[in-house]
Amino acid sequence: MRSGAFVADYDAWHRSWAADPHAFWDAAARELDWFAPWSQVSEIHGPDQGAGHRWFIGGKINLSHNCLERNIERGLGERVALHFESENGAARSFTYSEVLHEVSRVANCLKSFGITKGDRVVVYMPLTPQGIFTMQACARIGAIHSVVYAGIGPDALRQRIEDAGARMVICADATYRRGKVIDLLSIVERAVQGLGFVENVLVHRREAVRPLGQRQSDFEQCVRRQSPQCSAVVTDAEDPAFILYTSGTSGKPKGVVHVHGGYAVGVHLLMRHYYDTRENDVWWSTSDIGWIVGHSYICYGPMLAGCTQVVREGAPDWPDAGVVWSLIAKYRVSTMFTAPTAVRMFMRAGPEPVEKHDITSLRVLYCAGEPFNPEAQEWAARHLGKHGAAVVDNYWQTEIASPMIGTFPAMTARPGFAGKPMPGVELDIVTPEGAAVPDGKGGLLVMKKPVPYMMRTIWGDPARYLAYWSRMLGGYVTGDIAVRDAEGYIAVLGRSDDVLNVAGHRIGTAEVESALLTHPAVVESAVVGLPDALKGECIVAFVVAKGSEPVGRVAEDLEAALIVHVRDTLGPIAQPSKVTFVASLPKTRSGKIMRRLLKARELGQEVGDISTLED
Ligand code: AMP
Repeated sequence: MRSGAFVADYDAWHRSWAADPHAFWDAAARELDWFAPWSQVSEIHGPDQGAGHRWFIGGKINLSHNCLERNIERGLGERVALHFESENGAARSFTYSEVLHEVSRVANCLKSFGITKGDRVVVYMPLTPQGIFTMQACARIGAIHSVVYAGIGPDALRQRIEDAGARMVICADATYRRGKVIDLLSIVERAVQGLGFVENVLVHRREAVRPLGQRQSDFEQCVRRQSPQCSAVVTDAEDPAFILYTSGTSGKPKGVVHVHGGYAVGVHLLMRHYYDTRENDVWWSTSDIGWIVGHSYICYGPMLAGCTQVVREGAPDWPDAGVVWSLIAKYRVSTMFTAPTAVRMFMRAGPEPVEKHDITSLRVLYCAGEPFNPEAQEWAARHLGKHGAAVVDNYWQTEIASPMIGTFPAMTARPGFAGKPMPGVELDIVTPEGAAVPDGKGGLLVMKKPVPYMMRTIWGDPARYLAYWSRMLGGYVTGDIAVRDAEGYIAVLGRSDDVLNVAGHRIGTAEVESALLTHPAVVESAVVGLPDALKGECIVAFVVAKGSEPVGRVAEDLEAALIVHVRDTLGPIAQPSKVTFVASLPKTRSGKIMRRLLKARELGQEVGDISTLED
């Protein structure tokens, strides 16, 4: 067991919650700064009464204030909050006081454009200090940020801007990846074309190769003109802090809404007591601000905990396979958060790049986002954990914003298992009819009661929020299949719905299918996920083309064109690895595509029960 860990004993922490859940959350909330106290810890309705839940009722708080002023008042103003590195060679560090000044300048800049509490601001920025400052600035003035991963294509971006009704879009004109300059501004320009409600586009000009267009203003110029003072707006614990879109089973992404109070309490609690962070820790998450991990454990968590973090823009294997390890050595990184896909990439490069650098500072490596295959976990434990660092898995999702299941650093890691439920998280594994499944058997993973750090609704679509809750299944339905062993460890095996997980990112089959249908040569399409040695899953599309079934060279050209089409519409993360042309798609008599059959065909497996197949 590691010495000095906050939570040496999972069982004791769990018991403290079980003994009195209200007192547990009350104490967790008291660790933060509140402008006014709450009168009641929670109010929870079951699925029958709208599945609503509110936390810290009547309490007034601000997420950004808790990241910045609270730590500066505790004497951490001169501590480095961010060490930024970009693969293009840029490097800069900011102390907590400097971050407060920068965030305040951006907040004043937003105000100068008339942005106020409750307005939606879409952020399409790469992982840069400016991206983080912009998110914090929105939270500071009570504006609701909706960060869209700067890599998502123009149609997908436009859909998110429209759904949120954003008054402003803030972007960078470029990002750097694998030695290339990637033009982001053109994507934004295509996305906002004709959207009259977007009043301004603020552009962080890193390349500045062309003059600014209509509605566009220079981010840095506006920010530099502002005062570095801007006190945080008082928000209610239940006021929305941000929207983050994620894929579901329809073509329309879901705008998951998180709030200031419960979110801050949960992220802070788990940053300290699960991620075990102390103020002298150097944290590094290799995620991006476009994902939930980048919200909770880049933009907010490390600054809620008052530690130092490394933020790096660029590919983890560029300019060479040792870059991650060289940065760990340079900044003496103590806790790292990455995804199994990254570990598989490190594994491919072999142990040599690791061995060239001093990674003795590393005490824990956390992995999340997709099933952590035992082979990768064992490789990481052997080569990355050889100086004593624990390698542990944790499971959560955009909707929950912080871990639901995890292996604690002081717990024995069980390869293939994510770990045990976090205190406050009550889970069940059930059959589709809601009956309990015995240990060792797979079933649907359900959370019996809400936690303060989970979503409050789906933006503009309360019915879709309600659809997560099932009285029959006994609570919030995660959409995942899981299995529990006799000792209470849980393995999350994969999705139970038509959502894929490619390199740790969720992609709805319906989104890719809709994108394919916008191509003039496509009549029908179906998308499935197949196992991939690096990305966990890859996307394979089956397409019925207009006219006769393409073959030979025609098929090859159309396949290439469709891959490019999806890439241009949704972005590179959604692009199929392969397109197969078929004369028709297998469907049930009610017209539902049987993706299971397509998948079995590709994998050369038995197709199983086909009694509902029409043809
Ligand atoms: P996202 O909302 O994009 O973060 O994706 C969440 C989904 O990723 C979950 O519903 C799971 O399907 C999967 N996932 C996340 N973490 C894990 C994990 N540790 N083990 C297995 N699956 C995971």
